[in-house]
Amino acid sequence: MPAILSAWAWGSSDAGEPVTAGLQAQRVSTLLDQLGELVGGDRVIREGAAMAPYLEERRGLFTGHTLAVVLPATTDEVARAVRLCRDADVGIVPQGGNTGLCGGGVPHAGEVVIGLGRLNRIREIDPDNFTITVEAGCILAEVQRAAHEHGRFFPLSLGAEGSCQIGGNLATNAGGINVLRYGNARDLVLGLEVVLPDGDVWEGLNGLRKNNTGYDLKDLFVGAEGTLGIITAAVLKLFPAPAESPTAFVGLSDLSAAVELLARARGASGDAVSSFELLSRTCLELAVRHIPACRNPLAADHDWYVLTAFTGTRAGSGMRDALEDALGSALEDGLISDAVISESEAQSRALWRLREAIVEAQALEGASVKHDVSVKVSQVPAFITTAISRVASVLPDVRPCVFGHIGDGNIHFNLLAPSAMQGEVFLERAGELSRVIYDTVVEMGGSFSAEHGIGLLKLAEMARFKSPVELRLMRTIKQALDPKGLMNPGKVLPQ
Ligand code: FAD
Repeated sequence: MPAILSAWAWGSSDAGEPVTAGLQAQRVSTLLDQLGELVGGDRVIREGAAMAPYLEERRGLFTGHTLAVVLPATTDEVARAVRLCRDADVGIVPQGGNTGLCGGGVPHAGEVVIGLGRLNRIREIDPDNFTITVEAGCILAEVQRAAHEHGRFFPLSLGAEGSCQIGGNLATNAGGINVLRYGNARDLVLGLEVVLPDGDVWEGLNGLRKNNTGYDLKDLFVGAEGTLGIITAAVLKLFPAPAESPTAFVGLSDLSAAVELLARARGASGDAVSSFELLSRTCLELAVRHIPACRNPLAADHDWYVLTAFTGTRAGSGMRDALEDALGSALEDGLISDAVISESEAQSRALWRLREAIVEAQALEGASVKHDVSVKVSQVPAFITTAISRVASVLPDVRPCVFGHIGDGNIHFNLLAPSAMQGEVFLERAGELSRVIYDTVVEMGGSFSAEHGIGLLKLAEMARFKSPVELRLMRTIKQALDPKGLMNPGKVLPQ
């Protein structure tokens, strides 16, 4: 661990005040000059306003400080920049689109940010192999678009897809709305190119679906949040392009019906359910109240809703009929109370808008405490019911805003301040409320971080819930790859 890191508190909510004085000024100045020579002086950002977008954390939970933001354009430049930082004992924070929700991309004082945005080439599309090779800085939506132009489909899809980068998606093992059918980011990658903490480049860019030749190294870097190396390129899996994707918005008769409805939908569609999202009544009401163009498409209010899509890769594959049949029989059997099926692409988009609007609507409503957790799909109703009752016993008028990818067992169990409580007063209770939720989820064999990762935000939970054996294995891997502890210091692994 470099001496410069002792200046900030592990897991604190502020990444620390500048401690440039604690560094040898000459050494830092030499490093920044060398980085400027490497990537071009204007690609080493040191001025406050220009650095701000790289330091801001979107929820305002952490404040970043950095020596400089370096913007290399090639893998070789990334490797050489890493070597320079290593020789100067300066910590490195890889950063993609900075949309992460756990503070993993927030730099601490005395560290250098390496922004990947200029590594943004699509290197190759091989439609016959159903693969695309992209550089880490490609925006997710552009990868989707490039696949589409070649008649293929890249299924990773999430609310930040217009600004997050594929390197960040892989580093966080992002999930999103299509995991049920296509898997997480980890399931969508075949090969990686990675700059290691010593500046060596691992060239693992193969498009092989079978490759049993020892340890699967790519899995080390996926989900490592930049603590083991910098992903510079990836070979991603593509799929046949969807030809039809009828979408339904469903009012459930009660929460427990969601699991049975999902099982029926999977059977009825030939396992072609691409999304199965849950929304509570509170979430829908927030979206309708705060976001223009959002309205409840059903005649009455329900406590729980599901938004689901069946995806067929052949026009006329009968997906709409299958969806209608599944919902019709669910209605007859009392699992659901009402449903509407989209008749056009525009109507599908309007239904999806209800789901996507929740994040923005929550922010407009006021203070909230967020939890991205998972349990087995079969246990989702029990988890939600138990957690709602337990948080109510801690703070009676707290307003749960529960939604998420129920098809993956992933629930965003968020809490809004009681209507009569000041936001700041509510946030003082955040730790107490979060503890109840994490305890409940772990008690049920679930995960305290389903898809957003650990970063700085969940270091305490890592320490609390991961077994000593798991932590020892992770630390052993970190030590082996990054003995100087310079790659995204202080993230993921608790001290
Ligand atoms: P950043 O935020 O820049 O970085 C995230 C982490 O990855 C950091 O630890 C960083 O150091 C590391 N990193 C970045 N690039 C690299 C690289 N090339 N090599 C090594 N390490 C790297 N997430 C989901 O999983 N599912 C969702 O449905 C979802 N919805 C979201 C909706 C909204 C509106 C927002 C704002 C975020 C959402 N997220 C979601 C979270 C976020 O978008 C994802 O975590 C995304 O994958 C982060 O990508 P990024 O490029 O912004 O990474």
